[in-house]
Amino acid sequence: MSDYILVLDEGTTSTRAMLFAADGVLVASSQAPLTQHYPRAGWVEHDPQEIWDKTLACAREVIPRVGGAAMIACIGITNQRETVVAWDKASGAPLTHAIVWQDRRTEPLCAALREAGEEEAIAARTGLRLDPYFSATKMRWMLENVPEVHAAAERGTLALGTVESWLVFKLTGGAAHVSDASNASRTLLMGLEDAQFDEGLCELFGVPRAALPGVTDMAGPLGLTDKALFGRAIPITGLAGDQQAATIGQACLAPGQTKATYGTGAFVLTCQGSRIPRSTNRLLGTVLTQIDGQRSYAIEGSVFVAGSLIQWLRDSLGIVAVAEETEALARSIPDSGGVVIVPALAGLGAPHWQPQARGVIAGLSFASGKAELARAALEAMAHQTHDLAAAFAADGAPWQALRIDGGMAANDWMAQDLADILGLPVERPAFVETTALGAAMLAASGAGLYPDLPAAAEAMRGALTRFEPAMTDDVRAARLTMWRKALAAA
Ligand code: ADP
Repeated sequence: MSDYILVLDEGTTSTRAMLFAADGVLVASSQAPLTQHYPRAGWVEHDPQEIWDKTLACAREVIPRVGGAAMIACIGITNQRETVVAWDKASGAPLTHAIVWQDRRTEPLCAALREAGEEEAIAARTGLRLDPYFSATKMRWMLENVPEVHAAAERGTLALGTVESWLVFKLTGGAAHVSDASNASRTLLMGLEDAQFDEGLCELFGVPRAALPGVTDMAGPLGLTDKALFGRAIPITGLAGDQQAATIGQACLAPGQTKATYGTGAFVLTCQGSRIPRSTNRLLGTVLTQIDGQRSYAIEGSVFVAGSLIQWLRDSLGIVAVAEETEALARSIPDSGGVVIVPALAGLGAPHWQPQARGVIAGLSFASGKAELARAALEAMAHQTHDLAAAFAADGAPWQALRIDGGMAANDWMAQDLADILGLPVERPAFVETTALGAAMLAASGAGLYPDLPAAAEAMRGALTRFEPAMTDDVRAARLTMWRKALAAA
């Protein structure tokens, strides 16, 4: 019986192929690091050929471990969002390096559009802000600066797409040039209402509509792999950008349900159901799911510095040898002794949006030592999340509980502190690879292994550990007062 789900997880720093059983248990996995290219300050690139070669190699490595391609029911893909690939439809070859989501080279183009007064209309149509982070200005940059891309556009053979689009094109032997609605919603070229690439936006950003993929559902029959690749045509039945996949993997599919991923930074998404998010608090609106043409949306907010603050304590200050030590240090003292850290080491993200802000360590005394700093660093995660919760609530998306994942979520002390400061239950799944699991859920439901996505999510998600709020109101209020004072200084 072919009942395994192959997930291709195309991250920023690595490519992975993972095999899940239909009940959501991970049975095999293979990983390869991706070369990061930094041609200039602020520029970040990947080689699309390397992405494809390593994806194929990882898939070919895991498939035999369950008995070969006959055992694979379907494929789900999840990927780093916003990153742009340009290739030639006729030859199937990349035309230049991919411009990665972190790349800031298009800041001047964004600034010019902002000055032209375009931002509010664009935000209303797309749910996004005018920032180099998103795909449209990266596409325009390639068209203007890479002669091969320009020439392919003239010939009519140019294909532009995000990473899932590139992988589906290669996997189907060039048969499909598609992008799923969650990835398309990160380009600045898609209207949230109809989930189609928009002529007006394409014109504004100078991107030829003809070079863009067709926008598809995120689950269902989305393509068949070229028989030559794995010896059998395997259906591709799930596609999602990484943060949407993690939200699905946490089974946040009903309005108000919220997940927070604490990795290098922190990404928070709250499901909005069929209501199109309209933020007045500088949060983003994005597609969460599209199945049978029916969409659900999410509000998204991100914090730039989360786990990277712990890395800084480790690598720059040498306060801990490994990140896990912060937990014992935090537990070794009753409070931070008045020390508050504002982790604006790379500016402040949502809901403050102060790219020029810089970090602050407030309240130092001779009694402040390693433990106080480590504890204050972990406390900063709850403080930042608290401010996001307030912004989400002001946008009409209050949280009922918070489901957490990512490397930092392993820290029990931080999980409890989050529950205490938010005054909400915090839930953590035993299996924390929620991004890959979400892609597996989509693929499983798209292949008909389950009647629908909620059924797949229910069957495939694992056990949860729950942290209940236990802090008194006085202590919580005192913590937040100190945080606000320090924040003002940043
Ligand atoms: P990413 O996917 O962004 O690379 P991960 O989800 O792998 O990140 O999380 C790694 C981050 O989490 C690192 O920045 C590390 O400092 C932090 N981290 C990992 N374990 C812990 C822990 N037990 N306590 C605090 N921080 C941790």
